[in-house]
Amino acid sequence: MSKSSRITLVGAGLVGSLLATLLAQRGYAVDVFERRPDPRKAGFIGGRSINLALAERGWHGLRLAGLSDAMRPLAVMMRGRMVHDTDGRTNLQRYGRDDSEVIWSVNRGRLNMTLLDAAQAAGARVHFDARLESVDWKDSTLSFRSDVDGSLRTHAAGVLIGADGAGSALRQAMTQATDLGERFEPLGHGYKELEIPPLTAFDADRLPADLREARANGGTFAMEPNALHIWPRGGYMCIALPNAEGSFTVTLFLPNEGDPSLARLDSRDAVRAFFERDFADAVPLMPEYLDDYERNPTGVLGTLYLDRWHWNDRALLLGDAAHAIVPFHGQGMNCGFEDAVELAELMEGGIADPAAVFAEFERRRKPNADAIAAMALDNYVEMRDRVDDADFLLRRALERT
Ligand code: FAD
Repeated sequence: MSKSSRITLVGAGLVGSLLATLLAQRGYAVDVFERRPDPRKAGFIGGRSINLALAERGWHGLRLAGLSDAMRPLAVMMRGRMVHDTDGRTNLQRYGRDDSEVIWSVNRGRLNMTLLDAAQAAGARVHFDARLESVDWKDSTLSFRSDVDGSLRTHAAGVLIGADGAGSALRQAMTQATDLGERFEPLGHGYKELEIPPLTAFDADRLPADLREARANGGTFAMEPNALHIWPRGGYMCIALPNAEGSFTVTLFLPNEGDPSLARLDSRDAVRAFFERDFADAVPLMPEYLDDYERNPTGVLGTLYLDRWHWNDRALLLGDAAHAIVPFHGQGMNCGFEDAVELAELMEGGIADPAAVFAEFERRRKPNADAIAAMALDNYVEMRDRVDDADFLLRRALERT
């Protein structure tokens, strides 16, 4: 088999497993190397957000992989932003005129496992517990380490593609050999994930009367399920996305330093006082938020910029490995799925000249990735600051008409 019909893919996360599916469906022999154990056997080890907003851009990739029917029942429709003001009043701002313009909340682990099933069904070989450790560029040989028993194995690379996320080991190996023009701009804000469990999971009598109504109306969700909830508070905010089994994943976004900040929330009393002051209507819905806050890691946020996503015909990066962004437009995965679709289309019918395909891929996708990176940064200001600003919303509505 020629080198150019063999694909070596590093990372079987969301983007890597979609790309593996699309390339295997096009007749390529695909080997995917993934650092983690198989999540279908060992359980999903996340580390990033528990759920994600899937938009039409992302559904398109899933449709091409034949997965939209499998994912649709697992996704919860979000019609708009449900804004919670400091008095506990809520206001739904729809994303579009009707339910054709909505986004969907999906569980990251479920989506990744569905994509892995599809990749293997299409014929891709997925090697789990294989962490890329180094690349010998002289003979294009990759070394992978097992985190379970420490063993090392090598693999002679075919066409080499990296989808190993924001901390990409392939990118590091490439930058040892060539300058990709890499820079990372930290946001200075981080995040914590908390949970609003389904109403049945705790004593609903503790809820205020209006929230008890949700239960009387037959739902197990503690709030309106078909919305992305936002508590905008100026320099910071909470958001909550629904999960199909009736819970919500809440994410607090807060500056790392200053007042208030993640650094200042250094005790249960400080966290309680902060939430009771700023997110009072959410507190009764989160019976374990203080434990969640203590237990869950603090996430780091920033934007990764590269001048070049590929090195001649040697290797190409895509997804977060090429362009990690802040999550405020809910588009990182959606953009990565578009990368996978574009690359698979460019590789339709063979890849005789990898350098030309990599260059054309970068030419088509980089302006889009740069644009979404800038929009994601802008949207943080809008979400935390302006979604409850009536003047701003009126101005924006007038601009659009
Ligand atoms: P990843 O998902 O990071 O996958 C990389 C894979 O490579 C992993 O499986 C990892 O184990 C593996 N890997 C890493 N290193 C190695 C190695 N050395 N060797 C082998 N394998 C390796 N996007 C949206 O579209 N909508 C959202 O609502 C949204 N919300 C988000 C919320 C938060 C808080 C964050 C942090 C991100 C959010 N994103 C969202 C962005 C989204 O998570 C990423 O864009 C997406 O996960 C990128 O997919 P990826 O496959 O490129 O990288």
